[in-house]
Amino acid sequence: MKDSILVINCGSSSLKFAMLANSGQDTLFEGIADQLGSDNSTITFKYQGQKELTHLTVSSHENAVEQIKLWLDQHADIRDSMMGIGHRIVHGGETFGQSVLIDEEVINGIRECSSLAPLHNPAHIQGIHVAMNFFPGLPQVAVFDTSFHQTLSQEQYLYPIPMEFYREHHFRKYGFHGTSYRYISQQLAKLAPNSDQQGVLVAHLGNGASTCAIHHGLSSDTSMGITPLEGLMMGTRSGSLDPSLLTFIMQAKNISAEEALNILNKQSGLLGISELSNDCRTLEDAMVSGDERAKLALDMFAVRTAKYLASTATTLESIDHLVFTGGIGENSSYLRQVICQQLRAFNIKLDAALNDNATRGKVSRIAAADSATQIWVIPTNEELMIALDAISLIQGL
Ligand code: ADP
Repeated sequence: MKDSILVINCGSSSLKFAMLANSGQDTLFEGIADQLGSDNSTITFKYQGQKELTHLTVSSHENAVEQIKLWLDQHADIRDSMMGIGHRIVHGGETFGQSVLIDEEVINGIRECSSLAPLHNPAHIQGIHVAMNFFPGLPQVAVFDTSFHQTLSQEQYLYPIPMEFYREHHFRKYGFHGTSYRYISQQLAKLAPNSDQQGVLVAHLGNGASTCAIHHGLSSDTSMGITPLEGLMMGTRSGSLDPSLLTFIMQAKNISAEEALNILNKQSGLLGISELSNDCRTLEDAMVSGDERAKLALDMFAVRTAKYLASTATTLESIDHLVFTGGIGENSSYLRQVICQQLRAFNIKLDAALNDNATRGKVSRIAAADSATQIWVIPTNEELMIALDAISLIQGL
């Protein structure tokens, strides 16, 4: 039966892949090609519990996809079960409000959005072309990080700068992590069937982190902006700050705007404050060992997350559900506890024992009995959402 979808996430120097079968429920194999464009590039396949790493002699996205094709030729049963390919695309601008089957017009549309995501979109287009070469005739689908947020109102998505920047350059809030938020919204609707008629706050907390308010199933506000730098403090990103800081940093270090921006993207956030790591687990271990700065970094992360949850909540009529997801949201009981503590004015209350005992990788309800809001931990699964979109669009052909 042809029911497998190859999910491809093509970054500027990496290519992640997974083959999902059985309506996306089973992962047949997955892997990553890393450090593409350098001398040290590798491709790793994870199959039946075993990892297999190979050095790439030709370090390119094209060779990575060719290796997947060659691997599939040795696993003909999987190859012959493929029904299509789903691509994760970072930026769909205002052109793409939902996932689409890929044709020349779609590729041109993704290209037109490249000025808004210059590192990502060109890599995605390359991934699509290479996949078309090696898998001719297989339908391909594009799933956009931005599309879920196309329902924001103008009041929410416009920046208060001269309108000509929006009119002529499309400078506005787009938001990201949309595939994750759509997945969470659908999962929550299964767990709490009324939730698609209610107000939902989601904190997607990973290395990249954002919040989203979902009003009656539609995104009504989100913390990330025209790029993923806006909003929350993240692993290495500062999140929102006074824009004048950019010029202060440029003058203090005598560097260009691009270099200053690089500091805000790559050297700030948890890493910048802790001067130790961008990784939440490392910081929690350090905090337990008495590292005050690791604790400060984590507490700043929590305080700022709570602030953005409260601010995105202004687009809701009520806060009926709060969902934590992403590597940090799903696993850090400490940060969930501090975030909810900051939201006490909204009568959002955790049950400490339920929070501490939330099982990794599983759905948990962690609110106290007298909390005004249901609080959930729901593992996200962007690959599954991409596969489901691909299946639904391909079946409609
Ligand atoms: P991204 O997809 O944005 O790269 P992830 O969603 O994989 O990121 O999240 C990565 C973050 O999750 C890291 O900061 C990592 O330390 C954190 N994390 C993973 N497991 C745990 C854990 N058990 N406890 C605390 N933090 C964790």
